[in-house]
Amino acid sequence: MCYTARAMSNSDHIKPTLAGLGPTELGQAFAALGVPEKAQRMRVAQIWNWIYARGAQSFDEMTTLSKELRAQLADAYSLERPEIVTEQVSIDGTRKWLARLEADKPGEQGPLIETVYIPESTRGTLCISSQVGCTLTCSFCHTGTQKLVRNLNPGDIVGQILLARDRIGDWAGAEAEDPTGLPETERKITNIVLMGMGEPLYNFEHVRDAMAIAADSGGLGFSKRRITLSTSGVVPQIPRWGAEANTMLAISLHAVRDELRDELVPVNRKWPIAELLEACRQYPSLSNAKRITFEYVMLKGVNDSISDAKELVRLLKGIPAKINLIPFNPWPGAPFECSDWEQIEIFAEVVNRAGYASPVRNPRGRDIMAACGQLKSESVKKSASERRAEPAST
Ligand code: SAH
Ligand code: SF4
Repeated sequence: MCYTARAMSNSDHIKPTLAGLGPTELGQAFAALGVPEKAQRMRVAQIWNWIYARGAQSFDEMTTLSKELRAQLADAYSLERPEIVTEQVSIDGTRKWLARLEADKPGEQGPLIETVYIPESTRGTLCISSQVGCTLTCSFCHTGTQKLVRNLNPGDIVGQILLARDRIGDWAGAEAEDPTGLPETERKITNIVLMGMGEPLYNFEHVRDAMAIAADSGGLGFSKRRITLSTSGVVPQIPRWGAEANTMLAISLHAVRDELRDELVPVNRKWPIAELLEACRQYPSLSNAKRITFEYVMLKGVNDSISDAKELVRLLKGIPAKINLIPFNPWPGAPFECSDWEQIEIFAEVVNRAGYASPVRNPRGRDIMAACGQLKSESVKKSASERRAEPAST
């Protein structure tokens, strides 16, 4: 199913949106309307509750604010989310939204990003993007074929949560237009994963500020235990993320030898496996209840041998870890194949025997190309020579 929200019109975006902003920017918005400094904090707390706890989409609803202030707000600002260009609902209930961000310059079209919602019976996971494209060029990843267009700002990142909640009716008293596959939980989005487009640790401040909004108990209210940042291994930023955000962490490992990881995850040339695992060991407050997830994509004949599995177990010794074996999700022109199912089972068996529960999940939303690593919003492909010429990171 494909749904087109509304035609794009540049005039829609003339008023800056308050949806997705943090407390400082909201305070500034009130200051610009002449709200005295003494009253700004209270006003911010009120509008925060409307935007993030109740999902208000118009200033009219904000009955704790005076009529006059509501009219002033409506004159100067909007509450728009990133604009949904298409919504696809998979037969398994997975949703993928293609959304347009605000353009950098008036008259231009804003870039497109993808956000994916994966419902299960007892949880619902929202997979959000942190960049349009990616500077990295992991050879098995579709996003890696797209150049970095720009970093998302905190409002763009939080905006993905708001638009998803709007569309699946995940606000108190709201209902989904299409309830296919939604979980039985009270909240329809229970977990957030930064596993969409982009490398979140290369957009550190914006992702950190956005996750602070997501984790605020008086607003969106996600526990940090239910927010996971996935990184390809930007080692120097891992301790900083631990100190400043301290959400759950996932590491895209994918290979157990530097030679192979250099090819699959080129950032490894800068920060090899040993340095990456040392940063993991130092991540704050790890325990059995707070483990690092190691993601390992199963590539036929490349990284899926029994000796790879044994080495994986050896490497992770001493780190409270979960292992997530991901069947490779193909995309047009991908230079890899997914491992055979029997081989995945043999690999999983070695990992299981070492004490890691590693259920191999069925890829979700395959019919709408919504699975890990299949996201790619624009048809800009890097040529092979461009890819070779790029540094491992910027
Ligand atoms: N840039 C971050 C987060 C986004 S990618 C990172 O690399 O961790 C989210 C996960 O999907 C990563 O583990 C990534 O390696 C994996 N992935 C990418 N392409 C894939 C594909 N085609 N099939 C399966 N997993 C893939
Ligand atoms: Fe970027 Fe992650 Fe894809 Fe690598 S796997 S290209 S870091 S999005």
